Formats: sequence, C-alpha cells, structure tokens
Amino acid sequence: MDLLQLKDKNIVVMGVANERSIAWGVAKKLLEVGANVIFTYRKERSKGKIEKVLADYTEYNTDVVQCDVNSDESIANAFNEIGEKYGVIHGLVHSVAFANAEDLHNRFVETTRDGYAFAQDTSAYSLVAVAKAARPYMSEGASIVTMTYLGAERVLDGYNVMGVAKAALEASTRYLAYDLGAEGIRVNAISAGAIRTLAAKGVPSFNTILHQIEEKSPLKRNVTSDEVANMTMVMLSNLSSGVTGEIIYVDSGYNIMG
Ligand code: NAP
Repeated sequence: MDLLQLKDKNIVVMGVANERSIAWGVAKKLLEVGANVIFTYRKERSKGKIEKVLADYTEYNTDVVQCDVNSDESIANAFNEIGEKYGVIHGLVHSVAFANAEDLHNRFVETTRDGYAFAQDTSAYSLVAVAKAARPYMSEGASIVTMTYLGAERVLDGYNVMGVAKAALEASTRYLAYDLGAEGIRVNAISAGAIRTLAAKGVPSFNTILHQIEEKSPLKRNVTSDEVANMTMVMLSNLSSGVTGEIIYVDSGYNIMG
C-alpha cells in the first residue's frame, strides 16, 4: 500500500547545494516515490551540482529553476514559472539558510546591524516570502516543511546570529500555520540534528557539537540526512494531515536532555 501518496505530486525543493545537502536527501526520496520534483537554486555552482546528481535520474520528472530568496523579484519569477507550468504546488521544502561568516566567528555581541538583518532575511523571512509566492498555487492539503536547529532555543557556542534567525523561523512557522491553516495548507519545521554539509562547515563549533550528541543523546549517535528526509516525507504527506505549526525533532533525542 502506498501510504505516502506523493506519486505525481508537484513538490518544490529549495536548498540543494550538492549531494550532501539535507534537501538532496529529501529530493532523492521524493523521486523514488514518483513525485515531480522542482529544484530551486541560488548559485550557478549549485545548479551545476543539481544537474550532475540528476544525471542518474533522467527518467524522472524534474525541473531546475533559479530562486534567490533575498530577492522578491527572483522569488516571484520562480514561483510564477513553476505555477504556470505545473498549475498546482502540493508541497514545498524550504531548506535554505545563510549568515555572514564573521557573524558566526565573532562574539555574538559584535553582530552588526547588517549581518543580523541579512541572516534574518535569508534564513527566516525567506520562509514567509516563499509561502506567499507559492500560496496561490497551493491546493487544500498542501504542506510546507522548513529546516531548523536546536540553536533556536538554546545557546550553542558559535551558532550566534543563526540561532536568533532560527528562533524567528520557528515563530514564523507557527504564524504561517495559523494563517494558512484556514486554506488547508500545513506548515511545519524539522529540527535536525547536526549533519556534515556545506552550511555546517561555517559553524566553528560543529565538530564539538557532533561529539556532544554522540555522548549525551539518548540514541548515543548522530542522525543521518536519510533520517531527516524520512521525517520530511511524512510531514509532506497525508500521514501527517493533522499536524501543523510543529517543530519536529530528528536529533537522536538530544533536545530532551538537561
Ligand atoms: P547546504 O547543503 O549548504 O544547503 C544550504 C542551502 O541554502 C544551499 O543550497 C544554498 O544555496 C541555500 N541558500 C543560501 N542562501 C540562499 C539564497 N539567498 N537564496 C536561495 N538559496 C540560498 O546545507 P544544509 O545543512 O543542507 O542546510 C539546509 C537547511 O538545514 C538550512 O536551513 C540549515 O540551517 C538547516 N539545518 C542544518 C543542519 C546541519 O547540521 N547541517 C542542522 C539543522 C538544520 P546556494 O549554495 O546556491 O547559495
């Protein structure tokens, strides 16, 4: 029995930079169950990487569209193109975040006004902006899933301005869930454990965090992007039809520890 029922559904996946990206783990599973996957990218380098990994998926339904979440024009162009071509967007995976390197390396108190605003714009407001652009094409039962991190609620050394952006992302998830719930659109966030990706390289304390999770989490290990992707599939599908506005932890249980 096909419990997920994502076959032939049009799912937009934002944030594949390479084959290690959390979003690629999700996209692979979506392709395996027969969804039509529309990838968005910012940098040309990411487009090249996406096209490279898709060389093994030529018989699947895929599309690659540029979308820089710092630009309203780019977002409008991307979602108009997707909407006109596909008609309906059944799901959206927002797996995008960025902060200036100096704001992760310096003391938090040194964060500049511009650096703070940039991290918020790229990593939190972007969810609101893409939900607004996708909404006209979203049908009843559509699902939006974003990626967050424990640094939103706890102080994690070196996560700094990104932790504050993730706190705003989580609050935005709840407000969007309330606002779009009347239209049958669900919005949830997955709080993923630490996973070695390009973005993770920018977090100075990343190796220490990996060790701490191994030591202290109930499962005594780090999670894989496959495990995050599995939960994302559930949150995109009707299996989670009664869930919205939630932060779902896929972190070996680390968040429950004192
Ligand atoms: P990743 O592979 O580096 O993905 C980050 C993505 O963000 C890239 O594809 C990047 O695209 C995109 N991006 C950045 N600025 C953008 C912009 N202005 N417009 C459009 N796209 C933009 O790293 P990842 O770890 O998979 O990160 C995905 C999400 O998971 C992020 O929200 C991250 O905070 C979250 N997360 C990660 C971890 C972890 O340990 N890795 C844990 C919890 C949550 P370009 O390269 O094309 O700029």
